[in-house]
Amino acid sequence: MNQSVKKKVFIKTFGCQMNMRDSEIIWEVLLGAGYEMAASQEEADVVLFNTCSVRQHAEDRVIGNLCKLAARKKKDPEFKIGILGCMGARHGEMLLKEYPFLDIVAGPSDIYSIREALEKVFSGEDKVLAVKNKKRPRKKVGNVYWRGGFSAFVNIMYGCNNYCSYCIVPFVRGGEVSRPKNEIINEIKELVQKGAREITLLGQNVNSYGKGLTNKIKFPKLLEAVNKIEGVSRIRFTTSHPKDADKSLFRAIKDLDKVCESLHLPLQSGSNKMLDLMNRGYTREEYFDKIDLLRSMVPDVGLSTDIIVGFPSEKEKDFKATEKAMETIEYNSAFIFKYSPRSPAVSACLVDDVSEEVKKTRNNELLAIQKKISYRKNKELLGSRQEVLVEKMSRMSKDEMTGRARNNVSCVFPGDEGLIGQIVKVEVTGASAHTLKGRCVKEL
Ligand code: SF4
Repeated sequence: MNQSVKKKVFIKTFGCQMNMRDSEIIWEVLLGAGYEMAASQEEADVVLFNTCSVRQHAEDRVIGNLCKLAARKKKDPEFKIGILGCMGARHGEMLLKEYPFLDIVAGPSDIYSIREALEKVFSGEDKVLAVKNKKRPRKKVGNVYWRGGFSAFVNIMYGCNNYCSYCIVPFVRGGEVSRPKNEIINEIKELVQKGAREITLLGQNVNSYGKGLTNKIKFPKLLEAVNKIEGVSRIRFTTSHPKDADKSLFRAIKDLDKVCESLHLPLQSGSNKMLDLMNRGYTREEYFDKIDLLRSMVPDVGLSTDIIVGFPSEKEKDFKATEKAMETIEYNSAFIFKYSPRSPAVSACLVDDVSEEVKKTRNNELLAIQKKISYRKNKELLGSRQEVLVEKMSRMSKDEMTGRARNNVSCVFPGDEGLIGQIVKVEVTGASAHTLKGRCVKEL
């Protein structure tokens, strides 16, 4: 970059862990090109929004944030603003037309062209649109950038080929592409050298990892390789698709000492009619069988899920089937979403015929059910000893620390900041729906 005074960049990230990791990669690109991090939007020469499109609410938040910058841009045309990520891919040129003060629009596949895009707008080009929506390989452009702490995200694959009917990911993130094993292992080693202890492997469907690679490998084998890396204490992964989760995955959770006993397995609906309309590729019965198998192999596994209520044509009996599924499976936690159509996903062509009121009622009913289940399951852990990776000071008290047990349930206990990043043993003495309370027995 040819700039005598280094430009300062502020990146605001919306949405999922994929986006958090993408923002780190954008930093890798920009720090390597000579840009600096701004401590706040106010002191930045460039503000980049790395955005999420999964629900309308997520997009509305981005637009709210964007519009707040319009006045500053009017006074200072040298100030640059970009929308990156899923909204960039979904809306493309429309954003530049609708918000004329915007300088750059780019999609998740175009993450590596941010440097060129900034060079163009700073050298006087009016606007830059960089939305190719194609498969995205990982390019190493410099030292791996990591936000720090002790927990790091590592992409093992990008994109998705599943086309669940409600989901725009395959449209905005492109088709599935796996990274070669060696590249992933080297990245993890670099992160461990920088201080990471917990590695979360990221992919839209980690269970289909390896397809298309020259050196054939499946996800459990990748877990085995990561498990061997010295310095890694814990391994997590997300997201697993139920149609591809199988015994070999469950065996890896059972046998590999660093892989946490925890699985996020989105059910989406307990009704076979809905699952079919959602194009999920499994039935309720198949899903139940997999949970039974997993629990027979890993009895203390922590389970979480995603559920959509109010999908087009969802009748009361479909909803009841979801309710029943949740009561039968007894997840430790669940994320419940009200359906909203997202074009160009296929379901956007269906009539959105469940009223907002019904969606809200169903949403609240499931939240209440899950709260009771979470409380019951947490109470079952009273008296047990949990291995907790200490994350931060508790929001409620400066004399308490918080972290997550291997089953991914959060745990609060008396302690000080010196414990952050350590794995400690906590005896569980109390439980609420969302948290375990305990006391530190001894450091491991
Ligand atoms: S598996 Fe389905 S829900 Fe998940 S990213 Fe792919 S299309 Fe979307």
